[in-house]
Amino acid sequence: MKTIIYTLFLILASGIAGCGSPAVSNDSAASNGVMTLPEDGQGEEVYTLDGEWEFYWQRFVSPSEVFGSGTDALHVQTPSAWSDIQTKGGTLPDKGYGTYHLEMELPENLADDTAGIYIPEIATAYTLWVDQKVLAENGKPGVNRSSMEPEHHPQTAYFKPESDAIDLVLQVSEYYQRKSGWWDSFYIGSAEDIQSMRDYNISREVFLVVSLLVMGLYHFGIFVLRPSDRAPLFFGGLCLAVAVRTLLLGEVLFLRFFAGVPWEWMLKFEYWSSCLGIVCAMLFIYTQYKNDMNILIRNSFLTIFSLMALGILVTPALIFTEGMLYLQSAAVLGLVYINIVLWTALVRRRKGALAHTAATFILLVFVVNDTLHYNHVINTGETVSIGVFVYLFAQSFILASRFTSALTQSRQLSDRLEKANQTLEDKVERRTRKLSETNQELEDANHRLERMYRARQELMSNISHELGTPMTSIQGYIKGMLDGVVDRGDPTYLKLVYNKTLLLQKITDDLRELAKLESGGITYTFEERNMRDYVETIYFIYKEEIERKGISFTWEDHLPPERNGVVSIDPIRMEQVLSNLLLNARKFTPAGGTVTLVVQENESRDSIIIAVRDDGPGIEEEELPNVFKRFFRGGANVVKTEEGVGLGLAISAEIVRSHGGEVGVESRKGEGSLFYFLLPVSGIKSINHTEE
Ligand code: ADP
Repeated sequence: MKTIIYTLFLILASGIAGCGSPAVSNDSAASNGVMTLPEDGQGEEVYTLDGEWEFYWQRFVSPSEVFGSGTDALHVQTPSAWSDIQTKGGTLPDKGYGTYHLEMELPENLADDTAGIYIPEIATAYTLWVDQKVLAENGKPGVNRSSMEPEHHPQTAYFKPESDAIDLVLQVSEYYQRKSGWWDSFYIGSAEDIQSMRDYNISREVFLVVSLLVMGLYHFGIFVLRPSDRAPLFFGGLCLAVAVRTLLLGEVLFLRFFAGVPWEWMLKFEYWSSCLGIVCAMLFIYTQYKNDMNILIRNSFLTIFSLMALGILVTPALIFTEGMLYLQSAAVLGLVYINIVLWTALVRRRKGALAHTAATFILLVFVVNDTLHYNHVINTGETVSIGVFVYLFAQSFILASRFTSALTQSRQLSDRLEKANQTLEDKVERRTRKLSETNQELEDANHRLERMYRARQELMSNISHELGTPMTSIQGYIKGMLDGVVDRGDPTYLKLVYNKTLLLQKITDDLRELAKLESGGITYTFEERNMRDYVETIYFIYKEEIERKGISFTWEDHLPPERNGVVSIDPIRMEQVLSNLLLNARKFTPAGGTVTLVVQENESRDSIIIAVRDDGPGIEEEELPNVFKRFFRGGANVVKTEEGVGLGLAISAEIVRSHGGEVGVESRKGEGSLFYFLLPVSGIKSINHTEE
């Protein structure tokens, strides 16, 4: 994926470098101040004006005089600085003034049309005439420093040739900086081609500047958001420095945005941008490969460039441009050192070093390309700015991939943490559940224990209270016999005593059972039973016994036909309940009365109601709340012959409650009673008390 992106980017970069600009021809060169452009041009072509121009050193020759004063003219190779021009007396100095002259034979297509001329940066002021008319100016040339005004930036000019032969006269002066003359080519072509060449240069530079600014600002933004990582800060600084340099060089786009800035300050900015660029590059590389860079060497470079930046600030252009050589040498040394660091990082297999070196290699390819171009081996135009851009773009890509991998790592970590948390939560939840289950069990056991304890207490107090009466009777009878008040062995008394012991037996049995029921010491065996069938079976079991007393006994099934009323019950315990209710009804209903067993649903259809109705004496209203309490034996309606213990209903209520149901009674004195209980249709399946 990364390789594809790199390749695409290289294609884009080479596109920016090469196409869109008209073809440049430098087949013909000027010689002895005369240049003849070939006729066989293909149309869309511009020509360089490189070659030998006539040059009058330390003379401003006017266009009208130029033909008559040819004797003392030098023939100098262009483009070149004055210090490279050889004369009999050695090379020329960089400070001075002079006049260039070139006669040109134009091809037909140019002579007939409006022609354009691209004038490169010329140090440091000039006036250009074509056929004795001023065509372009930059600053004001003069014979000494005070009479000239420096300015140098490339420009284009257009003119209509009067014939196919034209005459260029160029007065130049330089007293303000190190370099003199010009070092890029002049170009001539049709106005259209020259314009499109310039447009192309401008758009290429705008593209580079905007891209670099965006990259720079983006990385500054990242730094602001995450100041602990300083790599984006230095990288952003590097992008910004290159952007400023691009603005100040080439077509000097800077002037379009900040028109009134003095020439000298623009030069200062240009030099500063170089210093800043190297400082940022050095620091950026340091953030990437801390262990591969010598901190002492790094600091030495930083000090040198800081001092240079200060020097540029406080000295005039004349001085600080002289220092250009030192700046360049220091920059080259700095770059060499950066490369050493990179190779070390590569050898030590540092992360990202390979990509970094590859990007540097690409930059090198562009540098070699430009060297070949300037030596006229190939003709591709200046591309190093593209190389720098490719390099920076690759760096920004490397940085971005570093961020992304950090992000991915943190995402993976947080995923793992989340998973671990989840597992932990699950574990905690499981443990908590288990703990609360154990707690619940403990609580239940406590409750059971407490209930058992209370049941025992109650049993003890009931026993002492309830057993008291029959025991006293038995004691009385036996004492009577012992005292001779009653005949010993009198069967009537003995039977009375015997009956009392039976009652005692029943009381203790019932009490024990109730205590067990209440304390949960009884095991229920639940099964699903159809209540219609179950109640019918009970009806037939007790039918004979009840009817024997002359009572009419019936059963009513009010369950809807489609419903069976399936309930979970312990059939034996449930029979105990029903038997108690039915036998009570039998006991309290006089002969000729009616007892009815009823089965039906409640209104919400979630419970089955089983009821026993009789038309016996009924129960006093105020006694109704006590009917199901232990040892309730009623008041007026107690059938004395069939003395009860008063525990049957309490036992029944307990059994029904253990089935998740509830008991109730409706009665009016003299109008019979209705004893009933409800059982939930869903049933109770999990009650399982252990027998003590
Ligand atoms: P016992 O074993 O003495 O019958 P129960 O707990 O079964 O005790 O009944 C308690 C009391 O409830 C009875 O003594 C009686 O006063 C009253 N009782 C129970 N069933 C009926 C009924 N069908 N009609 C009137 N009173 C009743």
